[in-house]
Amino acid sequence: LVSRELQAHDSIVSIGGVKIGGGNFTVIAGPCSVESEQQLFSVAEMIKGHGVPLLRGGAFKPRTSPYSFQGLGEEGLKLLKAAKQAYGLPTVSEIIDPSDAKLMADYIDCFQIGARNMQNFRLLEAVGAQQKPVLLKRGMSATIEELLLAAEYIINAGNPNVILCERGIRTFETATRNTLDLNAVALLKEKTHLPVLVDPSHGTGVKSLINPLSRASAAVGADGIIVEAHLNPKAALSDGHQALTADDFAKLMADIKPFVQAA
Ligand code: PEP
Ligand code: MN
Repeated sequence: LVSRELQAHDSIVSIGGVKIGGGNFTVIAGPCSVESEQQLFSVAEMIKGHGVPLLRGGAFKPRTSPYSFQGLGEEGLKLLKAAKQAYGLPTVSEIIDPSDAKLMADYIDCFQIGARNMQNFRLLEAVGAQQKPVLLKRGMSATIEELLLAAEYIINAGNPNVILCERGIRTFETATRNTLDLNAVALLKEKTHLPVLVDPSHGTGVKSLINPLSRASAAVGADGIIVEAHLNPKAALSDGHQALTADDFAKLMADIKPFVQAA
């Protein structure tokens, strides 16, 4: 179902009316985690000022350590919905439990399946049973074929609105958080009609590399990027080290403008 052999033209997936794919280069931005109304709204206002059409933010966080901030849960979903109403930005948020699918569908516009859950098949079926779009992130040790088969699970369950996301893979290299696999982007664009986004925030884990890798993503044919931003990264409850400040974000938007406008 995901193959270009079956469908030659690019699929366009709409997130709350914002079209992903088909020649657009779209930016999704927001904090790693939703932390408070003040935190979320300040980031939403900042990205909105740059014309970014979609807001990201985790309410349920799959953290490596059980002692790390786990997200605000439903309270976070409520804040995402409030931010959408206040700023007109449809939202993307991660689902980690199949039983949350119905609840989350009331609050957000696009489900994110995180790298750690790419092969959580019950979760894939649960979002496949909904019609809301799904941003499917590549597992940190998943092959391209496994990513495509994970997408196949969702579509086969009845939901064709799948967006793929390259977010870096585990390699021997430790200088960056992950190794952003831009090969995968170019190859996926050949193999599948689904839109392909890049997450250079998790892909590098290094703030200064997000800008160049965003430009590289556009050059290699990605349909857009999803990046983390925070107005006070030092106080962030997750991934503060890789969060773009307002200044970083302004620079990024200026540098990728040719791609966004050309699209
Ligand atoms: C995230 O987007 O904050 C996240 C946890 O991403 P990933 O699943 O790619 O690690
Ligand atoms: Mn994060």
